[in-house]
Amino acid sequence: MADGQGVGEVRVAPDRLHAFTMAICRADGSSDQEARLVADHLVLANLYGHDSHGVGMMPAYIQNTTTGRCVRNHHAKIIKDNGAVIVIDGGVGYGQVVAKEAMDFGIERAKKHGVCVVGLTNSHHIGRIGHWAEQCARAGMVSTHWVNVHGHKSLVAPFGGAEPRYSTNPYCTAVPRKGKEPIVLDFATSQVAMGKVRVANNKKVQMEAGLLINATGDDTTEPGVMYNPPFGAILPFGLHKGGGLAVICDLLAGALTGGKTHSPRTIKDGTDIVNNMLSIIIDPAAMGGTQAFEDEVETFITWVKSAKPRPGVAEVLAPGEPERARKIDREKNGVPIDTTTWQQLIDVAAKVRLNDTEIPKIAA
Ligand code: NAD
Repeated sequence: MADGQGVGEVRVAPDRLHAFTMAICRADGSSDQEARLVADHLVLANLYGHDSHGVGMMPAYIQNTTTGRCVRNHHAKIIKDNGAVIVIDGGVGYGQVVAKEAMDFGIERAKKHGVCVVGLTNSHHIGRIGHWAEQCARAGMVSTHWVNVHGHKSLVAPFGGAEPRYSTNPYCTAVPRKGKEPIVLDFATSQVAMGKVRVANNKKVQMEAGLLINATGDDTTEPGVMYNPPFGAILPFGLHKGGGLAVICDLLAGALTGGKTHSPRTIKDGTDIVNNMLSIIIDPAAMGGTQAFEDEVETFITWVKSAKPRPGVAEVLAPGEPERARKIDREKNGVPIDTTTWQQLIDVAAKVRLNDTEIPKIAA
């Protein structure tokens, strides 16, 4: 993000941020287990540096539980079962719960059949997609995930378009490694995740050029175009290639799974955040064999990382490494939260009637 006259920030120890998030969720009526899954997910996103998908989501989540657009204490339900192909209805339950349960089902099936194709439909926001790929990688599985978003207004312009037609449609693949953290490629197919525009808007800073367009389709650095009419749009990443990948995400996650695509049939101007996800979970043992796979992964990643860095680049990194470096830093120095987001969290804690003495204690 470009420098600017931003608002301030607070640094919060991860365990206190976790306790605060859990307390808000519990006070809102979530079970302990649900509150823990939500807090685990959001705080890890912050630790990994993806503040767009961190605890700053809580006000939107609580707004949605209040209106029934996110259903508390709901669980994933298999609605179509073909053994290695399953479809799950998320029932707009917390994505942190139903996506975890969907991956549990998928991993179990992939161990049995060598592969499982999971269609998770109609889930409330499933957050950072890498979280689900990492769950699969911990079980030794390779997984790839295609995600669409509907139920709110369009955000991202198709390649060449001057107005938005879909959302930030993330894509993710993770590859487990023997005795090491997995390779995790996880990104929005837009130039930036919408949450990053929200963070810039909250911080009152301009964004870099080349990320946003205004209502006339011209370049702008002003994040406010996504919040105030006349609305602009976020550009797709990678020109026609990223724009094309975003379209494929909607088709695979929204249409193939039996869910819904982002279209006039599902667009609302409210606060719904519905995710659908097509996941393909593969057991390496069922293909070239686990040992040969692990050996090739190490050989290739070592080769890739051995490339001489370009001027100004300290080291060639594998996908997933920048997040883990940030986690080490933030565990030590605290998670930076801009003061607008922090105030929104305190406000939402008051809204769910988190014990009045507890808020200043946790937030101090
Ligand atoms: P990003 O642009 O920061 O890209 C992150 C990916 O690029 C990671 O895999 C990272 O390891 C890799 N990477 C970054 N720098 C690297 C380097 N120097 N060398 C090698 N690899 C590098 O991510 P984003 O597009 O801002 O997305 C942020 C998060 O938002 C993701 O976790 C995504 O899943 C999530 N998201 C979720 C939704 C949803 O609807 N649930 C929508 C959009 C995005």
